[in-house]
Amino acid sequence: MTKKWFDSKVIKIEDESSTTKRFWVQVEGDEIVDFKAGQFVTLDLPISDKRTKRWRSYSIANAPDQSNILEFCIVLLKGGAGTTYFFEEVKIGTSIKFKKPAGGFYLPEKIETDLVFICTGTGVAPFRSMLWDIYNNEIPHKNIHLIFGTRTVDGILYEKEFEELMEKMPEFKYSVALSREEVLPEKKYELAKGYVHSIYQKHFSEVRSEVDFWICGWSNMIDEAVAKLMLEMGYEKGQIHYELYG
Ligand SMILES: Cc1cc2nc3c(=O)[nH]c(=O)nc-3n(C[C@H](O)[C@H](O)[C@H](O)COP(=O)(O)OP(=O)(O)OC[C@H]3O[C@@H](n4cnc5c(N)ncnc54)[C@H](O)[C@@H]3O)c2cc1C
Repeated sequence: MTKKWFDSKVIKIEDESSTTKRFWVQVEGDEIVDFKAGQFVTLDLPISDKRTKRWRSYSIANAPDQSNILEFCIVLLKGGAGTTYFFEEVKIGTSIKFKKPAGGFYLPEKIETDLVFICTGTGVAPFRSMLWDIYNNEIPHKNIHLIFGTRTVDGILYEKEFEELMEKMPEFKYSVALSREEVLPEKKYELAKGYVHSIYQKHFSEVRSEVDFWICGWSNMIDEAVAKLMLEMGYEKGQIHYELYG
């Protein structure tokens, strides 16, 4: 990839929950935007006169497939300049400029351990990309457990796809923690009241070296997860990988 910045146009927008939308952009030009599942791009949005104040990063939510279409899964943040722009101004055909994919949050070429993906809200985006990449390319792997947290049933993102992956990949387990639901509905997957932490504390209480934890989301959840895994449960630093959204 020789270019540093790319131009793209929004080709599709869909609601994924009452506060989250999926945006697809088609890259313009012939050069293929190559990326590793789990990476992000930085967008230059018309929200400030100052260049660096216009930049917002978003994980690429789809798996790499050379199509030059990137998907972003974005939650509206009250008063947030970038997300308000996305939710109020961006339409089909809007131009979006972005920097070439970056970041080190991607799986090793050879997956030799069980993987635990821990996320809240749109922090699920890089894991969706990784999971479809593993499935589409038949990448050898061990057990994979996706633990997703949100407040209510309405906030569960990509639920149908993860149910589908449970059927397609027997080594894949999917669990959801809901922090604001009093009564839990019947689901095909494990559903728990409260936060993501109780789920991995339950399933991974026996410390093993053949498991890696990948965590994505906002700092309060990540700080708590890292503290619990290392200080309370006794996992090593090298077994914990995270992507901080802010
Ligand atoms: C590597 C990376 C990947 C990211 N990927 C995604 C993604 O896939 N989807 C996505 O929705 N966001 C993602 N983000 C977050 C995104 O870059 C923006 O920070 C977010 O969309 C808010 O931007 P804004 O301009 O609306 O708010 P701003 O006006 O920039 O922010 C307002 C303030 O709120 C804080 N804040 C931002 N989001 C939250 C939150 N949810 N909870 C609490 N405080 C918050 C910010 O730190 C800031 O102080 C990612 C961030 C990084 C660094």
